[in-house]
Amino acid sequence: MLIKYYLVFILFLIASFSTVACSEKGATAPDEEYPYEVPSDTVLNPFAVNERLGRGINMGNALEAPAEGDWGVTIKDKYFTEIKNAGFQSVRIPIRWNAHALVDSPFTIDPVFFERVDYVLKQALKNDLALIINIHHYVDIFSEPENQRTRFLSIWAQLADHYKKYPDRVVFEILNEPHDNLTAELWNDFLAEAIQVIRITNPYRTLMIGMAEWGGIAGLNKLIIPVDERNVIVTTHYYSPFHFTHQGAEWVEGSDAWLGTTWMGTQTEKNAVISDLGSVVSWAQAHNRPINMGEFGAYSKADMASRVRWTSYIARQAENFGWSWHYWEFCSGFGAYDPSSETWRSELLNALIP
Ligand code: BGC
Repeated sequence: MLIKYYLVFILFLIASFSTVACSEKGATAPDEEYPYEVPSDTVLNPFAVNERLGRGINMGNALEAPAEGDWGVTIKDKYFTEIKNAGFQSVRIPIRWNAHALVDSPFTIDPVFFERVDYVLKQALKNDLALIINIHHYVDIFSEPENQRTRFLSIWAQLADHYKKYPDRVVFEILNEPHDNLTAELWNDFLAEAIQVIRITNPYRTLMIGMAEWGGIAGLNKLIIPVDERNVIVTTHYYSPFHFTHQGAEWVEGSDAWLGTTWMGTQTEKNAVISDLGSVVSWAQAHNRPINMGEFGAYSKADMASRVRWTSYIARQAENFGWSWHYWEFCSGFGAYDPSSETWRSELLNALIP
């Protein structure tokens, strides 16, 4: 008799254990290819998420090219291991979703492209990196915002649903560098609508929002984020002095004339940076929002010593202010990593992570 009760008890224990294990797995894991994590079921503190992003780098010129590889970068799995081992905490992954979605309703995103992006994100997650994914180079929305409004929101509805079970350390950035006809005023309207769409499937996901006028500091005072939406990190890009960081950049007309511009780190040069970044600090305090510097970098046509001085100075200032940052970028024209020798450019890496 005693043995019978004992057996029933053991079976009960086994059954309850396996039920818990199965329901946890089934309910929350997007799949089993990266470490199991439960997406939050309460609103996160965006300041803590920003801290988790910490020091990061952009996987630029890859998935935001018209097709991956078109701009010389095809992402290798090992890149994320290199990034993690170098000491970075996160990666921003720019993605040109609009080039892989139907032009007309229902604006379906190509499942093959989704698969590729999922694969890339999982490589990063496996390496314990936090992530920012965005919509990058959505050129049509900048020329004809009203014609693209429904499509833009539909792309977000699809992305948000697709990634809703991804861990908390995946942050959604609504749109890279709004500009041109997507004016500051229109952008405030679009971003509020995008938040509503994303919140249907991701009530607790941390969002990232940049400003109009190319995401630079100048647009900050025009940015209006719904005040009751607290789970947001505000992101700004910093490339000043532009004649230094973009000298010889093929995509910036007239920039060959700036070749030879140096950045010596004089007090005057530093003061200009402090004054720019200081305005962001004041805004952040007034609005109680955490700040990310989602892009900063100096193109490879500038001299290395100046690039190192500038990069290190900007990164340390951002850290002093408690911001997270993402260097532009990993292995292309601004690259801190040389893809042909598969080694870091040690001066730049040391400037980023001393
Ligand atoms: C753009 C890149 C460009 C970089 C620096 C980024 O936002 O997406 O194409 O290289 O800014 O200009």
